[in-house]
Amino acid sequence: MKRLASIACLALSLPLFGTAAVALAAEPNANARPFATQDNPETLVLDARDAGRGLMTATMRIPVASGPFTFVYPAWTPGEHGPTGPLADLSQIKVAANGQPLEWRRDPVDMYAFHVVVPRGVRTLDVQFTVLVNSPDVMSTPNLAILNWNRVLFYQADTNSHHVYFKPSIILPEGWGYGTALPGPQQSGQRVDFAEVPLNMLVDSPLDCGRYYKHIELWRQGSAYHMLDVFADKPQDLEIPDELIAKYRRLAPEALALYGSRHWNDYHSLLELSDVIGFQGIEHHQSSDNRAPDDFMTNPRDQLAAGDLLTHEFSHSWNGKYRRPRELTTLNFQIPMQTALLWVYEGMNQYLGDLLSFRTGVRKPGDYPEYLAALYARLASEPGRNTEPLIDTTTAAPYLYEATGSYPSIRRTSGDFYGEGELLWLDADTLIREKTHGRKSLDTFLHLYSAPALTGPITKTYTRADIERLLNEVAPNDWHAFFQKRVYEVAPMAPTDELARAGWRLVYTSKPNKFITARETLSHVTDRWYSYGLLLGKEATVMDVREDSPAWQAGLAPGMKIVAVDGQAFTGDVLKYVTTQAEHSSGPTAFLVRQDGWYHTYQVSYHGGPKYPHLERVAGQADMLAQIMAPHAGQ
Ligand SMILES: [Zn+2]
Repeated sequence: MKRLASIACLALSLPLFGTAAVALAAEPNANARPFATQDNPETLVLDARDAGRGLMTATMRIPVASGPFTFVYPAWTPGEHGPTGPLADLSQIKVAANGQPLEWRRDPVDMYAFHVVVPRGVRTLDVQFTVLVNSPDVMSTPNLAILNWNRVLFYQADTNSHHVYFKPSIILPEGWGYGTALPGPQQSGQRVDFAEVPLNMLVDSPLDCGRYYKHIELWRQGSAYHMLDVFADKPQDLEIPDELIAKYRRLAPEALALYGSRHWNDYHSLLELSDVIGFQGIEHHQSSDNRAPDDFMTNPRDQLAAGDLLTHEFSHSWNGKYRRPRELTTLNFQIPMQTALLWVYEGMNQYLGDLLSFRTGVRKPGDYPEYLAALYARLASEPGRNTEPLIDTTTAAPYLYEATGSYPSIRRTSGDFYGEGELLWLDADTLIREKTHGRKSLDTFLHLYSAPALTGPITKTYTRADIERLLNEVAPNDWHAFFQKRVYEVAPMAPTDELARAGWRLVYTSKPNKFITARETLSHVTDRWYSYGLLLGKEATVMDVREDSPAWQAGLAPGMKIVAVDGQAFTGDVLKYVTTQAEHSSGPTAFLVRQDGWYHTYQVSYHGGPKYPHLERVAGQADMLAQIMAPHAGQ
């Protein structure tokens, strides 16, 4: 999702220092015997008292043996699906043995690895570094902080993350509360100590903390519960309407009905409300790290635009964490992940996260067709799909998550395997319903997929063949050919069969699409994609131009700032007026733009008026979308 780093691993000769040779960079593996065990864990104390100024200090005591020793900083981040470990956040690295400073050296090839030679008789190393919390992602403000443990620790190289143990602690800023799924918290003043956990569980258990917070129990059954831990930059943003909370209380029951199983005991939806911290969601087995704007829980528009944030991440506990593609399941955080099956992991989850947002009522079930219309229309106007199959977007996901800049519709983006994944799995869902005359659905598949009914947070891997075999058990079909055509081959058109099967068709009218409107305000953009072919950002700067659209043919390009339209200073209202006027004239509209210090006028010939996508019912056919989005759990 974010940054990129490289994990080239070559065996090279290193200069010697001290009296022994340092370890050499090698292909990462997980075969080394860990010195940090459950009985003798690595201790990690994170001093977060300076979080408000963007600094934290990580202090570790790492069990070792004498001789060459390598410790590493996690590179590949689960949930981010890439080598995003923020190496540049490390500073002031200090290593000591028996109170004496010890020389360390970074590996010249694998920059996530650090070599030392441990003196004879030494059993632990004291290692400390300063974490630059906000470079480049903002992870803390004066009022709250997000702590992903993988960003604040070193561990012994080449160990299995299930077998190397940590005992983590945090020192919080005064008066701050916290939320996490980490077990065994013991608080004394500002310090909280947690139980010993394997490294994989530590990295899978982020901690949110802040000055203004609320813990809201959403669901409980015996000792199992679902907690919403909300932290806000401003206390008024915690005034969440009861009506909205009531909808989120439906999330666990609807997810349990959808999957028919549970692989967590206590689950924490951690939510940070801050305009300073970017919009983001990262899944974990027993928690999720959700980051949203200040007014996310108090402005209905935000719930309309992004009401699948918490539901998507919650669904990942089953689909992504419990069931995970084999090549995405690595034994430690240095071994590269292979991301090809993200069309299941993220693609199906995009569908299920949306489905849960509608089934819970966070979004009105009746609005799903309008939501789908925006998705269909976007994918239908994407020239990149003429040359690049969906599988290439998932295979190259670590790079595409990082991609920024112009022409995403020409390049294709990581967003494609989310959006197109949703259509793909809606296609599969409607096909199962059609083939079984409504007796079965994707829910039936998910019950098989996520069986048995109750386990702890373990991972069960799958391959493409496993998915196709399970689908075949639900509804016999050539599922291999189904996915081959839609995912593995170039598909100039996004899936549309399901639309007709579900009793709907795509139309364009002058009425704004409510989801496009909500996203315009949430993302501060002006969307004229289906009329002029323009997406405008702040201060009317062109962010993207649709290929072959009127704006494209006139010569408009990303980076230009629109100054005036038909002689009037540009505002949204002026553009609206000019668009309406152009419907009754034959002449072009003059766009005056500024680019790199120059002014140019472009003549755009468009007379079709406002144009937005919607779905329309096909008479005489059953409305499958209404059946799919209706609440499924008992009331
Ligand atoms: Zn996801």
